[in-house]
Amino acid sequence: MKFETIKRVILAAIMLPFVFMIIEGIVVIRSSVKQYRDLEKDRQFADVLARGGSIAATEILSEIGATRRYLAHPSDRTAIDMQRSRMKLDDERRAFYASLPSRDTLDAGLADELSTLSLAYSRIVAARSAVDQGRYAHSDPGSIYWFAALKQLAIVDALSPLISDPVLLDKSNQLMGILLTYYGERLITIVGTRYLDQGLSARFPVELFVQGKVMIGEGMEHMVFHSSAPTARDIVAYLAHASQVKANAITDSILAGSRPTNAVRDIWAAAQNERMAFLQQKIVEAARDIHETGESLSTRSHIHLTLILSLCAGLLILATLVTVLAARGLRLIDRLTRDREMLVGELRNAAQTDLLTGLYNRRGFEVAASALLTQAEHGSRWISVVLFDLDHFKKINDINGHDAGDAVLRHVASVARENFRSFDLLVRHGGEEFLALLPDSTPDDAATVAECVRLAIEAAEIPLPGGDLIKVTASFGCAGRANEAFNRNFEDLVKRADLALYAAKASGRNCVVSGPTVPVMTQEDRRKTASGGGFDSRI
Ligand code: GH3
Ligand code: MG
Ligand code: MG
Repeated sequence: MKFETIKRVILAAIMLPFVFMIIEGIVVIRSSVKQYRDLEKDRQFADVLARGGSIAATEILSEIGATRRYLAHPSDRTAIDMQRSRMKLDDERRAFYASLPSRDTLDAGLADELSTLSLAYSRIVAARSAVDQGRYAHSDPGSIYWFAALKQLAIVDALSPLISDPVLLDKSNQLMGILLTYYGERLITIVGTRYLDQGLSARFPVELFVQGKVMIGEGMEHMVFHSSAPTARDIVAYLAHASQVKANAITDSILAGSRPTNAVRDIWAAAQNERMAFLQQKIVEAARDIHETGESLSTRSHIHLTLILSLCAGLLILATLVTVLAARGLRLIDRLTRDREMLVGELRNAAQTDLLTGLYNRRGFEVAASALLTQAEHGSRWISVVLFDLDHFKKINDINGHDAGDAVLRHVASVARENFRSFDLLVRHGGEEFLALLPDSTPDDAATVAECVRLAIEAAEIPLPGGDLIKVTASFGCAGRANEAFNRNFEDLVKRADLALYAAKASGRNCVVSGPTVPVMTQEDRRKTASGGGFDSRI
């Protein structure tokens, strides 16, 4: 497998699980953020519910009572009581509005209910100033407060479907159930008491009675649905008491048209008042319970927020870690690739280079020569070789030692490298024998170059390891031929150069001898050769 492919595979192995983890992390964080938002929203709703329920059950009704007492007996004491109940209602209303989520997060239905509630409160404010100015001396402002209380109930009811937390939803339904029951009971008690107090001439207020009954029915339905809740169980158990069952029977008989005696009326009124006080107490408890649930939702939402932040931090650390690891991994692969390429280059050089002289060895020479001949066949028509051998080298070894012989070989190689042309290929052919391949060179060119090298070797003063200087000579044999595409083999040239070298040795050494020349073949010559016409390779 190529290193680039390995790099990609490693990168994919690191990055794929990482990307997968990041996606998973983002999904978890998103769902946690949603959960956090829901919890925060529910916590806010819990506050609104608790305050709304408490206003409907306590503050509005206490202001009605105080206002009625003031209207019936205007005095400093009743006026102070009335002012106090007004201030309490205003405080609670302010707190209620402050705990509302911002208007743009509410749906249109709830926003409408809130507008109607504001309107109901502005009617209370108007009624208050009318009471203060004495314009209510002969009438009752109850219906104005009643309207506001019903609107407050409607808000509690409208909030329920927006709650996500099941426990809070349950409790809000319970609160709504108790509120409805309470309001129904209150309506029946007030209307019933007034009717019975007015004597035989009074018209029976059947609509208000029925309205009260319907509210009680709805409230009980809410409570029966949540009968497992302790508050609902308490209320159901309370209503099963003998006195309460009896009061219900009296209510039904009044609704059926009968008129109880004064004694029965008193029993009924007492039971009804006791029931309302009990329900009011339960409303306070339910509102407190909702408030506590809101507190626990707040704690949960904070835990969630911490979790989200930890998750984000963890993901960030992980991302940094993986990025650092991936970067280091890639750097390591790059370094390995570079080292490997260097090693391969060094091995290739070592396989093709003679270690003593740094020239090509035979193997390297073959590779380079083949490339050179392929190039040369396009441009040049001649190719030559020069073979040269140090004279009496054995003696140098024998007299100065093998190390000295090596030093001489190294020096001669460098002199030869400097004096052959840059495009000539030089190889240590064996022992103290060197071969040069001269592309684009006639035998005469080769003889000229060889003579130049010979003179340079002869002139060189070679330092030996012991510090002495030594001079050596070499004998040269040259040969050349036409460079043809059909003949890449230059063994014949080497053989002829060897013969020439032999001749140089035989003729006294330290000289250049050119071997017989093979002329360039023309098309005509080739045709003759092909038709068996004979060709003389020697001049
Ligand atoms: P001639 O002029 O006829 O070539 O005589 P010569 O002594 O040079 O030739 P001969 O073939 O008798 O001896 C060649 C010597 O070269 C023998 C061998 O020990 C020595 N030789 C071959 N390779 C190396 C080498 O790598 N290092 C050293 N120091 N000597 C070598
Ligand atoms: Mg020799
Ligand atoms: Mg030799």
